[in-house]
Amino acid sequence: MSLPIFLIGARGCGKTTVGKALSQALGYAFCDTDHHLQLTTQRSVAEIVAAEGWEGFRARETESLRAVTAPLTVIATGGGMVLAEENCRFMQEQGRVIWLSASPEVLADRLESQPETAQRPTLTGRPIADEMEEVLRERTHLYRSASHHQVNAMQKPEGVVDEILRSLSLARA
Ligand code: ADP
Ligand code: MG
Repeated sequence: MSLPIFLIGARGCGKTTVGKALSQALGYAFCDTDHHLQLTTQRSVAEIVAAEGWEGFRARETESLRAVTAPLTVIATGGGMVLAEENCRFMQEQGRVIWLSASPEVLADRLESQPETAQRPTLTGRPIADEMEEVLRERTHLYRSASHHQVNAMQKPEGVVDEILRSLSLARA
């Protein structure tokens, strides 16, 4: 299989971390839509949101998704990528979509220990654990319906990689 592999899931589920490890395991390229967005705009997520609102950010996110999609590539997507139906359809048509699923408590713990979290605007302005719970309540059905496979993201990154490889019947390169 040479189709792109899209990783979806909430902030902190490990899309970037696992995506890099998965790309190495397969000998694929790795792309991160958030990173692509920052490179092309020369602005942080917070700056884009401040200047153009979440709506402007979402439009740019869709452009980034299309720009980075290529065969033999693992693509880590932004946590809100599934909010646009258009993005879900695109990923489903172009490749295989993997949902990295984790509990709100695990996501909040990981994000709280990440220094750059402070630079990113929260969606609700409330404590991060509350926010993760609300985000998952709103998005779990989207992650489920957008993905071909759900994997348990609450294990070591290498374990997540192995579960993805098994779900796609792929072997390490
Ligand atoms: P995302 O790209 O989905 O927002 P990241 O890959 O940036 O998530 O991971 C968020 C934080 O959680 C990072 O500090 C990362 O080191 C940590 N992390 C990611 N995956 C795991 C994992 N499977 N086990 C433990 N910590 C993890
Ligand atoms: Mg990421």
